[in-house]
Amino acid sequence: MSLVIVGSVAFDSIETPWGRRDKIVGGSGTYCALAASFFTRPKIVAVVGEDFPKEMIAFLRSRSVDTQGLEVRPGGKTFHWAGRYDYDPNVRQTVKTELNVFQDFRPILPADYRSADILFLANIDPDLQETILDQVTKPRLVAMDTINYWIETKPEALLRVLGRVDIFFANDQEIKMLTREVNLIRAGKKIMAAGPSLVVMKKGEHGALVLGRDFLFGVLANPCEDVVDPTGAGDSFAGGFLGFLDRAGGFSQRQIRKAAVYGSVIASFVIEDFGVDRFRSLTRRDIGVRLRRFKKLVSF
Ligand code: AMP
Repeated sequence: MSLVIVGSVAFDSIETPWGRRDKIVGGSGTYCALAASFFTRPKIVAVVGEDFPKEMIAFLRSRSVDTQGLEVRPGGKTFHWAGRYDYDPNVRQTVKTELNVFQDFRPILPADYRSADILFLANIDPDLQETILDQVTKPRLVAMDTINYWIETKPEALLRVLGRVDIFFANDQEIKMLTREVNLIRAGKKIMAAGPSLVVMKKGEHGALVLGRDFLFGVLANPCEDVVDPTGAGDSFAGGFLGFLDRAGGFSQRQIRKAAVYGSVIASFVIEDFGVDRFRSLTRRDIGVRLRRFKKLVSF
């Protein structure tokens, strides 16, 4: 199968109680594509400015990410997001969102992207998500993610896209905000009533809940003693989840459950270092070792 991901490729400025980093590479598309690359060969759609490091594009390629759909805009400035974390890694404040080259990015997809089996509309402008969705001819599965910024600034466009996808990923607070519902299960059901047949509710260090039409599956987050930078955990979860499904070639309930476990395991690595750095040393063997440990943790 093939997986196409549209999302932000960004510079992130991160502040945690233990340290800060200014303008390191991040972005929903970057985290997701790198996470998925441990299972399949994802194709990415995004735009960066001339200021974006060429080394990072080379790194994406070295991980078999197809970058044909990654435009480098001459003279442009890369998307920039700044966020601050409290002592509780689940509490994050957005300090700045500068769309820059993403402001007017409406790409024409390369021919071999149009036949994607799985399309992931990672967190980005819902109008851009829709433009991409319109160009993919016959996807077997469409998933989307979002963030409070888009819920606040473009709710109509977001709901339009929501009505056309099979899986909705979001964190618990975003799901409650979008549905104006305080109970998470009721909120998830409201999302399903709007279109998706599966809602993946990410709960930060508490794991995730996967709500289907006739099942509910809970997955823990792998307990981690040293959370260095929680940024990108959600995108990496989605990347691992969809990368696994792309490799598995099917969407049975059993495969969905396994995908959620792989998503959780891969997310547990990325938070061990700032930005995407942990992906540089991570191997499939490391993932396998942690998966086995995780199995022991949740079996009884
Ligand atoms: P996560 O921690 O998984 O929720 O995702 C964090 C990533 O989302 C960061 O690397 C940011 O660059 C990216 N991001 C933050 N705000 C936005 C936004 N409004 N649109 C697209 N990407 C964003």
